Amino acid sequence: MTGSSDFKVTLLGTGVPTPSPGRFGPSTLIEAGDQKLLIDAGRGATIRLYQLGVPMGRIDALLLTHYHSDHTVGIPDFWLTGWLQSHYATRTKPLRVIGPTGARMLMSNLERAYALDVKIRIADEHLPPEGAAIEVEEFANDGVVFEQKGVKVIAFEVDHGDVIKPAYGYRIEYGGRIVVISGDTRYNENVVRYGAGADLLIHEVALARPELTTEAFVQRILAHHTTPREAGRVFERAKPKLAAYTHLVFLASKQVAPASIADLVAETRQTYGGPLEIGEDLMSFEIGQGVTVRRHPAPA
Ligand SMILES: [Zn+2]
Ligand SMILES: [Zn+2]
Repeated sequence: MTGSSDFKVTLLGTGVPTPSPGRFGPSTLIEAGDQKLLIDAGRGATIRLYQLGVPMGRIDALLLTHYHSDHTVGIPDFWLTGWLQSHYATRTKPLRVIGPTGARMLMSNLERAYALDVKIRIADEHLPPEGAAIEVEEFANDGVVFEQKGVKVIAFEVDHGDVIKPAYGYRIEYGGRIVVISGDTRYNENVVRYGAGADLLIHEVALARPELTTEAFVQRILAHHTTPREAGRVFERAKPKLAAYTHLVFLASKQVAPASIADLVAETRQTYGGPLEIGEDLMSFEIGQGVTVRRHPAPA
């Protein structure tokens, strides 16, 4: 093995439902050996893969954390654009989708919705029908959901609120290294448990300025997510080599501005003193002896 690691994680989208040009919808690329996994496919995931030069057809499996639309609206784009005959696409095999209960319904209904496009492109462009096929694997408990060529993925249930079920996080193991992604969750013991000793622990977070926390809509949203102080407690207990935020929920109203990145760091520092990165779109993490963080060069 050369000096550079062959276990790499790239945040494709670090945003939320807000249609922000700077933070696309939730999606994370895992590259481990020759395996490439996508965790969630929020808005713009295909654009980020294109920016990285990773053909969509090279993704071995799409794993879903839960069924909030911001995590899934990029799926039809990824699925169908990835089937085209072009250097950025190239899928000739069925798309493998792994998710908690609900994945089959989502994917079979997308197949119905896009049936005419698939039919037309087979007839007109002679695209291989297998490249538009979808293979779904559902699970309903914690456990191994993917194991291939030295890459193991373990799903673990998280707590995104009483009616937002199912909701899962993922632990990816490769070459003795561990990456854990919380998925959308409130403070949850399972993240501490599965995140313990991880090289990289990627966690969601939500915050609002104190003036806003009395608003009902803010309380409702915060009740589904993890505050920076709570995330800091998760990091403090799990003790990853590096903790990183993604899925940054910055709440605001017409009168009250969103909190800042500095606020996010300061709040986290109330409960956690270890290594911390605030995720950005296209930020990557190379997992080796240590974790090397790289920012994608700004577009010209
Ligand atoms: Zn969610
Ligand atoms: Zn979300």
